[in-house]
Amino acid sequence: MIRLSSRLQTIANKIERGSRLADIGSDHALLPVFLAQQGVVRTAIAGELNPGPFEAARKQVREAGLERRIDVRRGDGLSVLKPGEADTVTIAGMGGGLIVNILTAGKPQLAGVNWLVLQPNVGEELVRRWLLQEGWLLREEDILEEDGKIYEVLCAVRLADAERWNEELYRPCRIGDLELGADDLLRFGPRLVRQPAEPFVRKWQGEIAKLESIAKQMAESQHEQAAAKRGAMLADIDRLRRLVAVIMEKGK
Ligand code: SAM
Repeated sequence: MIRLSSRLQTIANKIERGSRLADIGSDHALLPVFLAQQGVVRTAIAGELNPGPFEAARKQVREAGLERRIDVRRGDGLSVLKPGEADTVTIAGMGGGLIVNILTAGKPQLAGVNWLVLQPNVGEELVRRWLLQEGWLLREEDILEEDGKIYEVLCAVRLADAERWNEELYRPCRIGDLELGADDLLRFGPRLVRQPAEPFVRKWQGEIAKLESIAKQMAESQHEQAAAKRGAMLADIDRLRRLVAVIMEKGK
């Protein structure tokens, strides 16, 4: 039996029993093999672009004796799928930009898919923006820390009235003394920002430290443009500090 990392286990916990899964960018196919071993997925497709991980996935599936339940396919993104073959898609462990490109290019293959579990390593905001624009509702957001890295797991459902729910989800709101607009909610996560969690605080503390270091370098620049940019960055740092303080207070 495969044992998953906390990150992959969090993703696995989001898959409904009886799903027909497509795991895109599957690498060693750990997620589909685990889910098949646990009897969670009915069938799975493990999609891989690159030859090394593709072979590793085939080996993993063969050694687990799951060739009849898991089909390992080589190809770019969702192109490995025929429309209607899967109802659930996972894409994990890549940048948000790449995830968005895969989803955009694979829109026809998403026909029949009603549950997306996405775990961008960076660029979560891009993924949320895509979901919003494409009429998916971000139903769940998780954040976790493993081996010093922080991961967000975004789950989205396809709903006929997603627009109405999304209006509610991204409606400007107040968190403590901070006014948050739709862009803030896309950046922080509309659900994450409302449920205080330690990894969330640590993520944004890390972001503050990065911005502070850039602002410090900018202070040494003579350019006028750098001064204006630095001003905006300092204002952002100030808001992030206030947000972190409010979330920490809420979490007490
Ligand atoms: N999903 C696994 C996980 O979360 O542990 C593996 C993540 S691994 C860092 C990213 C994998 O995506 C690599 O194996 C890479 O070959 C694959 N990949 C990158 N771009 C891809 C694409 N356009 N289509 C399919 N696979 C892709």
